[in-house]
Amino acid sequence: MRCLERVSELRAMVAGWRQAEESVGLVPTMGALHDGHLALVRQARAECQRVIATIFVNPLQFNESTDLQSYPRDQAGDLAKFEALDVDAVFMPPLDEVYPEGFATKITLPGLTDCLCGIHRPGHMDGVATVVAKLLIMAAPDRAYFGEKDYQQLLIVTRMARDLNLPVAIVGVVTVREPDGLALSSRNLLLSAENRERAPRLNQTLRDLAERLADDRTPAGPLLDKAREDLLAAGFEAIDYLDLRDAETLRTLEHAVPKARLFVAGWLGGVRLIDNLPINP
Ligand code: AMP
Repeated sequence: MRCLERVSELRAMVAGWRQAEESVGLVPTMGALHDGHLALVRQARAECQRVIATIFVNPLQFNESTDLQSYPRDQAGDLAKFEALDVDAVFMPPLDEVYPEGFATKITLPGLTDCLCGIHRPGHMDGVATVVAKLLIMAAPDRAYFGEKDYQQLLIVTRMARDLNLPVAIVGVVTVREPDGLALSSRNLLLSAENRERAPRLNQTLRDLAERLADDRTPAGPLLDKAREDLLAAGFEAIDYLDLRDAETLRTLEHAVPKARLFVAGWLGGVRLIDNLPINP
């Protein structure tokens, strides 16, 4: 497995693969790997001849410096996990390789980057869109893999790639969960034992709402209000959002439609957790 830090090395390596007519899959991550990340790698490994994983903790998508500082890091562990899954190359650029002095470009998708996590973490979604655009341009993969756990991110990246005619297929991978339903996340490591017990409430709430809203005549508003109150009573300090939205436009919905999806973000002991679930009325 090759470890690369420079865009020029990455491009030279991919050019060699292209010459040999080998397909290339890209799996962008911020490291601190868990089985959710590894599901993306496994799918890429199954579908592409060459797999590149990236580890880059992108400061543009952190709106609070304490969150950036406390973000878990485990480079040695991450490299061992990638190696075990037969990844061909890991791209780990230093900060100035991605954002040289004077970097000024921003990718923004009005309507998609400025709702949900885009409101509660100002600049976050633009930061995600910008760094993913750069990684797709740097690595020029045939396919790039993103988790449904960050559904808004998956939607934004898919739309951006289409809007900018990037020659890449964006592949969504179903959320990997703990047996109790909690979505795997690097941030779960930061939860106290007590809050780890509370955390599955987030997914239970979505499953319960998805069942109740499956009848598309049921108005969502009162059920969402009650579910927010219940989460606060269960020990969440704050609920940034608990919304029913169109799964393609992210517009809020009053009733479930065929492509409706529930989205939630809540705080437990200073740790922000997110989840989402489709509704099939
Ligand atoms: P991150 O390192 O948090 O930026 O995540 C890197 C990629 O892994 C993103 O595409 C995430 O959506 C994906 N991912 C994170 N957690 C999970 C999970 N529990 N299941 C599936 N994919 C995930």
